[in-house]
Amino acid sequence: MTSVRSYMELWAVNVLRILLAVVFLFSGYVKAADPWGMAYKVEAYWQHWGFDFPVSSLPIMGAVFALAAVEFILGLYLFFGIRNRLTTAGVFCFMAVMTLLTVYIYMYSPVPDCGCFGEALVLTNGETLLKNVVLWGFSGYVLWRRGLIRRFISERHQWIMSIYAWLYVIVLLFVSFRHLPAVDFTPYSVGTDIAASMQAEVETKLVYRKGNTQRVFSTDSLPGDDWTYVATDVRVLREPVVKDFFLLDDAGNDLTMELLSDTGYVFLLTFPDMLLADDGNNDRINDLYDYTVDRGYPFYGVSSGDTAAVETWRDRTGAAYAFLQADRDMLRSIARSNPGLVLLHHGRIAAKWGHNDFPEALVQWEPATAEQKQAATAGWTLFVRQLLWFLIPLFLITLLDSLWIASKYYKHYSFKKRLKQKTMRKKIVAGNWKMNKNLQEGVALAKELKDVLSADKPNCEVVICTPFIHLASVAEIVKDSVIELGAENCADKASGAYTGEVSAEMVKSTGATHVILGHSERRAYYHETPEILKEKINLALANGLKVIFCIGEVLEERESGKQNEVVKAQLEGSLFDLSAEEFANIILAYEPVWAIGTGKTATADQAEEMHAYIRGVIAEKFGKDAAENVSILYGGSCKPSNAKEIFSKVDVDGGLIGGAALKAEDFKGIIDAWK
Ligand code: PEP
Repeated sequence: MTSVRSYMELWAVNVLRILLAVVFLFSGYVKAADPWGMAYKVEAYWQHWGFDFPVSSLPIMGAVFALAAVEFILGLYLFFGIRNRLTTAGVFCFMAVMTLLTVYIYMYSPVPDCGCFGEALVLTNGETLLKNVVLWGFSGYVLWRRGLIRRFISERHQWIMSIYAWLYVIVLLFVSFRHLPAVDFTPYSVGTDIAASMQAEVETKLVYRKGNTQRVFSTDSLPGDDWTYVATDVRVLREPVVKDFFLLDDAGNDLTMELLSDTGYVFLLTFPDMLLADDGNNDRINDLYDYTVDRGYPFYGVSSGDTAAVETWRDRTGAAYAFLQADRDMLRSIARSNPGLVLLHHGRIAAKWGHNDFPEALVQWEPATAEQKQAATAGWTLFVRQLLWFLIPLFLITLLDSLWIASKYYKHYSFKKRLKQKTMRKKIVAGNWKMNKNLQEGVALAKELKDVLSADKPNCEVVICTPFIHLASVAEIVKDSVIELGAENCADKASGAYTGEVSAEMVKSTGATHVILGHSERRAYYHETPEILKEKINLALANGLKVIFCIGEVLEERESGKQNEVVKAQLEGSLFDLSAEEFANIILAYEPVWAIGTGKTATADQAEEMHAYIRGVIAEKFGKDAAENVSILYGGSCKPSNAKEIFSKVDVDGGLIGGAALKAEDFKGIIDAWK
């Protein structure tokens, strides 16, 4: 039951984390690909709060760059499982702020849509609020259960992913800031037939009657004369996509249809904010104008009607072209540049340029070729293409990383071989009574255990590790049984004036054969360092005891993906000075500290991943044989209900059991997992 629940939780956390990651990546991407579009939205917020910052100013552009980068990076980190604690907390806080903001937007409507997905997906304020409340809830759950997040990239190579993502988003932002958006989701993408987009799509049906029968006919299948016309039913299937396109001359004459029906090329130099327009490329504009005059192509400056600003521009730049007036939002949308250049041909947008890319007349650019760009760059097609450019290197990095992991841990080991080695290794279930049971209770438990295991022989080695005061008595009880005896600790000194300490020699003299060293509780509460443990191990081995050496990471270390680093340091710090012969008397116990006594178990896959890694580290230091022979036990809320699944993994050779070792029935249940 528990394992079904944990399995479902594992799935839930990972599905939700991927969903959140995709939303964040998409949202960050559309902002980074169209920073000017987002800046217009941010400007509207600032204006609502009484600030009139120019659109290219730091409070606006800074907010756009920061928002896009933070969302994109959080999305990518969440997707790959990088720095889980920081990332999930970041996502939760981000969603908290955004949800509160959307509550405000929903109540006071400072902007018609919040702009969270730019122009790519426009949601109403109500829809946005609903979306954010749901996502905020998801992010809270993912933050709470972040320990279950699966990593798609090893910790060692996370930096490559990070650098790649940061570079990608920063380059995307700067390129789209200096040029036109990397992807154009506006209604004015290249290829758009403006006149057609201004029309609504309607369906007309005609109603006819014959006698008492009334029927609806489409316009291309009208009935014969015996039917009488009754009514026309017109339904709007799609609202016009373009609603704000008009061009007026100074006298107020509407030139829209005239210019849209021009069969040649029409050049529109668009000024979304005339006073802020960049005149750095003015010579090019004037050359281009001369070129159009020579060819007889109409060329207009188009502003939103501030005549004083137009005059200032003429004075500043010597512009000789005529100006038209248009809607400011349309000018901000049709070309995200100030000024921008739009080329119309047969009423279609044949090409457009930002002011840093204006074509040089007659040299680099020919109108005929520009038209070939048509439609090829329309929003979603380009988005998918760019997405692939982003994903392919990511996929390659992940693939190489997986190969690296596989080659490191499984270099010499095929699965079959590893399975065979497992059957040759000692399988062990060891109990750790900790500071539980008085002498009489301990003796009773040992007797009960001896009886159940005599009646039903175990398929593995069984060790019970008891407090010092039980050792001699329990040794007598288990003397002729399958049960072996161990202590939970020993001193780091051989003998002498160390009041209260118990030496390895004393432990051995009770009849015990094992000792647990390096348990996380001793590391945490009694400050046992790797150096102290090294001394204890040396003394235990010198006295002929087998050492059950515990290693494992705490929750924060797992959440920041440091578990490999931590266990490796623990092994290095206490065991790496041993000889291969000495190492043969070591049993390892991987015990993730977050799973000890908490009821949280590492999943069987998590345990296997760590055990395989630990075996790899041992192979590197002590050689293949030592790695193949060392038993690695799992410890941390192991119970009869989950032991079988955990022990089934090829690198798991048994368990170190705390709580469940205090009841003969439970301990026996775990031992039976080997049957
Ligand atoms: C332990 O303390 O070694 C241990 C694994 O404890 P528990 O089984 O209670 O989590």
